[in-house]
Amino acid sequence: MSPGRPQSVPVLDLKAQYATIRAQVREAVDRVLEGQHFILGPEVAAFEAEVARYCGAKHAVGCASGSDALLLSLMALGIGQGDEVITTPFTFFATAGCIARLGAKPVFVDIEPEGFNIDSSLVEERVGQRTRAIIVVHLYGQCCTMGPVLEVAGRHGIPVVEDAAQALGATHYGRRAGTMAEVGCFSFYPTKNLGGAGDGGLVVTGDDGLAEKLRVLRVHGARPKYVHRYVGLNSRLDELQAAILRVKLPYLAAWSDMRAQRADTYDKLFMEAGLAETVGLPTEMEGNRHIYHQYVVRVPRRDELREHLAARGVGTEVYYPLSLHLQECFRDLGHRPGDFPQSEKAAAEVLALPMYPELTLAQQEAVVGAVREFYAR
Ligand SMILES: *Cc1c(COP(=O)(O)O)cnc(C)c1O
Repeated sequence: MSPGRPQSVPVLDLKAQYATIRAQVREAVDRVLEGQHFILGPEVAAFEAEVARYCGAKHAVGCASGSDALLLSLMALGIGQGDEVITTPFTFFATAGCIARLGAKPVFVDIEPEGFNIDSSLVEERVGQRTRAIIVVHLYGQCCTMGPVLEVAGRHGIPVVEDAAQALGATHYGRRAGTMAEVGCFSFYPTKNLGGAGDGGLVVTGDDGLAEKLRVLRVHGARPKYVHRYVGLNSRLDELQAAILRVKLPYLAAWSDMRAQRADTYDKLFMEAGLAETVGLPTEMEGNRHIYHQYVVRVPRRDELREHLAARGVGTEVYYPLSLHLQECFRDLGHRPGDFPQSEKAAAEVLALPMYPELTLAQQEAVVGAVREFYAR
């Protein structure tokens, strides 16, 4: 690094991680290729058991993606035409897409501004005659405030689905994300904290009946073979993905610690740079252990800052720039700007900075230095 030339910092560096486990991953891939068993074999069964143990869940059912984990969960819960499902508008599309795909209606509840998760104090007022489920999201790697949601859901007899795609390993008052409600959904999309070499997903549940139904639904609803109890879908985690994920899972706890350390370092660097007033730093909410899937700040003139950082080789991302209630595909819901003000404000202000376990101090200093330079102009 020559003086005055900022170091380039990608928003995510998957190659840095692969370099540390290359031999093990190749051995796992080779094992599957030698066995020539590619669908629902020993790797998937072992991985399901290992994730279940890691999370403290009774059952784990692998599937093709995090999106399918959500879809299968709602199908297992019997959600369909005319039903309403309560969720947050400030999330990845799949959280609400699965509801609409089943002919049900997403009913949005605004977020609380500090943790970016569903405002649990606003859930009950949206519960109606047709409410059949609540999908909460543990965004950016920390859990939403579950207590009040579970209390309302319990009182109304409504199941809760946890979209824990960004939060595998996070805890809330000592309990793992995904295991606090009826079902928990995970994604192994390559950029997630536990990422495969392609798509993958998984559902955890403590309910024997739901686990059984999920296993049947992922093979077109057939049990035994060619006898169809339900109209399911083809949604399996494949053996290659499971074998690779089994290599990575034992490292996940250490990787989460490294992410949390880097989040502390960012906090410290922003404070030292005198930017704590300008840049809204992430808040770890009460009872949470945040695993920093993303380190997300709130900033003024966000899009200009992004350009400034990009010009200096610093990658950033915006999760998510348009609140779901304002998406064209949901226009029939009749929402307008202003309906969910906290979600809309977050969409305009959030910026995810480079975050991965292998991020170096020099890189973090370069990121914060480039931010300071922007606001000093
Ligand atoms: C990634 C993600 C999903 C979907 O997972 P895929 O594996 O990409 O289908 C769902 N919800 C949230 C919050 C996510 O971040």
